[in-house]
Amino acid sequence: MASIPQASAAQFLTQLKYCKSLPTLPAVALQLIELAEDSTATLDEFAQRVSFDPALVGKLLRTANSSFYGFRRKVASLSEAIGLMGLNATISLSLSFSLRGLTSGQGGALDDTDYWSRSLLTALAARTIATELRERQPEDFLLAGLLQDIGVLAMASMLGDAYIALYKQGAGHAALLKQEVQSYGFDHAQAGAQLLKYWRLPERFHECVLRSHAATQAGGEGGAGIVQLSACVAAAAHIADAWIQGATDASFNAAYRSVRHYLGISPGQYQNIIAKMRDEMPEMEALFESELLDPGILQGIQDSARELLALNNLRLSRASAEASVQIQALEQRIATLETQTRRDALTGLYNRTYLQHQLELEFDKAMREQSPLCLAYIDVDRFKSINDTFGHATGDQVLVTVAQRILSAARPTDTVARYGGEEFIVLLPDTGLADARAVLEGMLSRVRDKPCLAGANADSHVTFSAGIAALVPGAASFGNPAALLEAADDALYRTKSNGRGQITVHEPDAQ
Ligand code: GH3
Ligand code: MG
Ligand code: MG
Repeated sequence: MASIPQASAAQFLTQLKYCKSLPTLPAVALQLIELAEDSTATLDEFAQRVSFDPALVGKLLRTANSSFYGFRRKVASLSEAIGLMGLNATISLSLSFSLRGLTSGQGGALDDTDYWSRSLLTALAARTIATELRERQPEDFLLAGLLQDIGVLAMASMLGDAYIALYKQGAGHAALLKQEVQSYGFDHAQAGAQLLKYWRLPERFHECVLRSHAATQAGGEGGAGIVQLSACVAAAAHIADAWIQGATDASFNAAYRSVRHYLGISPGQYQNIIAKMRDEMPEMEALFESELLDPGILQGIQDSARELLALNNLRLSRASAEASVQIQALEQRIATLETQTRRDALTGLYNRTYLQHQLELEFDKAMREQSPLCLAYIDVDRFKSINDTFGHATGDQVLVTVAQRILSAARPTDTVARYGGEEFIVLLPDTGLADARAVLEGMLSRVRDKPCLAGANADSHVTFSAGIAALVPGAASFGNPAALLEAADDALYRTKSNGRGQITVHEPDAQ
């Protein structure tokens, strides 16, 4: 496949705007986006625009009367539906329905694949997660889920057969993103975000599309709302894949690991989400006039789930309202505790237990996907003398400052943890040695170049020593995560002997 130089990636993304074959939104959707931006818009104005599209009116009414909402009385008119569901929800729903009509314009070459099933399943999962977590605008989550992979359509329509061949290789979503970057210098998350900008969708949607393909430990900018939307959509994509991969115990269990990583929810909440999705799948299929799952998979689930479902219903009908409220409160508490147990109380960074868990995951992933993984072991220099000179409480403050500066130089995909005392570990997935060293140099200069204590002690500059070890595909390598950690520790030890305040890379033969 012809590869496009990285330098032209930005230019390429700009070309999206002028590409004639690009998916375009129907006129009514464009008008709704405009209306959504107008804070003075009224329900009546909105109802009037939608009423030009009878099919859309039908779908909105059907949604208002569906199990999605469960209103007791029948909703008979459009304005009543908008009034009950809310203006924002109706706009998001209308956009979602309009999107379903889009194609890559590649004559079915891409559209016949499972692109839409995956997007619709992601959308249903995102909406179901949002209702389970009591988010206020579940339809925003539905729309964001549907948009997550819109960049695939954009890339298919711009790049044609070569891209479709790449997409159809079907080596999994993570592999696809990586190959896109290798071949074109950008991935479909970037292409999708760019397309949504051109469509003038609210910023939270393009930000979400950009972020929902990667873990965002540091949270980044843009407020908790966008972070939560991105985390839900990222988790939703894993749930969608679990359904597509046969909806087996193994596929749901594998997805739960990622879902817990993004959202920290309990197994009980996760099971609720899966059960709700199963119940709402027929409604979703009807609303979007699409098959979500291979009929074989669906039948299998229904057969095996029937017995279990009957049991669940029985238990639920007997359970008192009080008991279920208590269970929910408990589950919430467990979820909060689970989040707390990942963090170090002093610095707020991930703690040693979480780091060890994450190291195992990243190590396995790097081996499986043959991608590089770097680990940096950091130790603050002569920290004992800071305690001795200024006292333990000031020492604590210095640790917090150092932790924040290290974190501020990390990328969203890096994991930064306090390993103990004045020692930190940074995991850098998908990163070769040269890049890892550059990230660490950035961390070191942020820590070193400004004093760590204010006032009279303003000249108190702190340094750290670090050792980096890399798991590189194809090279002589490490058999397990502990060996990688030990190699970084060895390199750190050599930094200490060579004068501190530097970064040393582990060389396999230098012991
Ligand atoms: P080196 O450059 O060789 O690493 O010297 P060092 O003084 O940093 O190393 P050493 O291991 O001798 O001392 C680490 C000190 O960190 C000792 C310990 O009391 C202190 N320490 C560990 N945890 C904390 C903490 O949470 N708060 C404070 N204030 N000090 C801590
Ligand atoms: Mg130490
Ligand atoms: Mg030290």
